Amino acid sequence: MMTLWQRCSEKIRQEVSPQTFARWFAGVEELSASESSLAIQTPDPFTADTLRSRYWGIITDVLKQEAGPNVVLTLSVGSGPANGAGRPGTPAAMIPAEETTALSEGPQPPYDRPDFLNPRYRFENFVVGGSNEFAHACSLRLADGAGVARNPLFIYGGVGLGKTHLMHAIAHRVLDQRPRSRIFYTSSESFTNDLITSIRQNQMAAFRSKYRKVDILMIDDIQFIAGKERTQEEFFFTFEALQRARKQIVITSDKMPKDTPGLEERLRSRFISGMIADIGAPDFETKVAILQKKAGEQDLFLDGEVAHYIAEKVRSNVRELEGCLIKLSIHASLHDIEIDLPVAQEVLRGIIRDPARNSSVDNIQKIVAEHFQIRVSDLKSKNRARSFAVPRQIAMYLARKLTRASTTEIGRRFGGKDHSTVIHSTNKIEGLLKTDLSLSATIQTLEQKIDLS
Ligand code: ADP
Ligand code: MG
Repeated sequence: MMTLWQRCSEKIRQEVSPQTFARWFAGVEELSASESSLAIQTPDPFTADTLRSRYWGIITDVLKQEAGPNVVLTLSVGSGPANGAGRPGTPAAMIPAEETTALSEGPQPPYDRPDFLNPRYRFENFVVGGSNEFAHACSLRLADGAGVARNPLFIYGGVGLGKTHLMHAIAHRVLDQRPRSRIFYTSSESFTNDLITSIRQNQMAAFRSKYRKVDILMIDDIQFIAGKERTQEEFFFTFEALQRARKQIVITSDKMPKDTPGLEERLRSRFISGMIADIGAPDFETKVAILQKKAGEQDLFLDGEVAHYIAEKVRSNVRELEGCLIKLSIHASLHDIEIDLPVAQEVLRGIIRDPARNSSVDNIQKIVAEHFQIRVSDLKSKNRARSFAVPRQIAMYLARKLTRASTTEIGRRFGGKDHSTVIHSTNKIEGLLKTDLSLSATIQTLEQKIDLS
């Protein structure tokens, strides 16, 4: 017979990634269980904190399913790895999810965990998918002190795709592991403002030493430095000094160095010789995973259908995905109802534009055909010539992204093709979009045309 906790943890295993399960749940043991209570024990305080702050919702949900709504859950920390018969640990009261406690013991860092660090922007909260795995891997390596082959690490990607999140995650992880590390994080705008103040108050020496005595310098949104001569000059000196001292520099930008007008040539060439890691728009599966993760963090039950709906409709910006969730969560608690698909559609109407209104498959076909100067009938034909096949794949991709039509329906509208052809075409375009900048520009243009039609 499985114990209550074993039954719960089997269910949890189905809900989280294998890594998450192995890291946070595998070492948890049941101390006691009765009709009205379950006491579990974690091997260390860090695991306990994490379970409380991040997985409390899922644990209590599963417990409700397994043992009814009135079972009280208590969590305690064992001393050392729990083995066999659980040693009673120090009982801990239930701590609400918001209350994450200090994570590392040992020497106090010279700076407290800096308040510019968003506590939610950690690697554990970052969903890895095809669009961001390289940037994630580089960041993780850097944080683990393995260093990146080249300095700086230059994270590049569109708005709301997780650049700042990754940067904070690096800082958190470094501080978790090496609390004494000196990390300085700032945006390029604050850097500029700081510089202006220092010049005015005649404190350039202090300014320089502040930025140069760090182990890791992080500058968020460097694109704003472009066109500001004095700031760029000062930043260049800082950069050189840190690099000479073999300190790590991390930079984010929403533009590639070569596409940033007004960026000084010497900075541009430094950035280009760094490690450039780009973040692309998340694919459908990654968007669903992000939604589920964020919902879990907020203790919000997210219906699968609703997650799919949002992931399909929100184009690329992860911040928008979150916006949808927040709206749903407020609605759910205000009206004390569960969010199903019709409710979600209603609530999100203002955020998610209704694609049925202006983008029908027909309309997309017309716009794509016109753009490539071919006929709609060419899109629907079986002609595999490149000049037709590529526009056809693009049109299918857009139809899938911008309309509610199913893949079967889309296949039918493209001259009776199989739904697997539609999926194949869509995947192909998605794959190409990761590397092909001119394709992604074309698609953007087409989407705008479709939007305006
Ligand atoms: P950027 O700096 O690129 O504009 P942010 O890092 O501010 O974007 O991310 C916007 C929001 O989306 C943040 O709340 C962040 O937590 C979330 N986010 C982005 N990518 C991911 C991801 N892969 N997993 C989880 N959350 C993500
Ligand atoms: Mg940012």
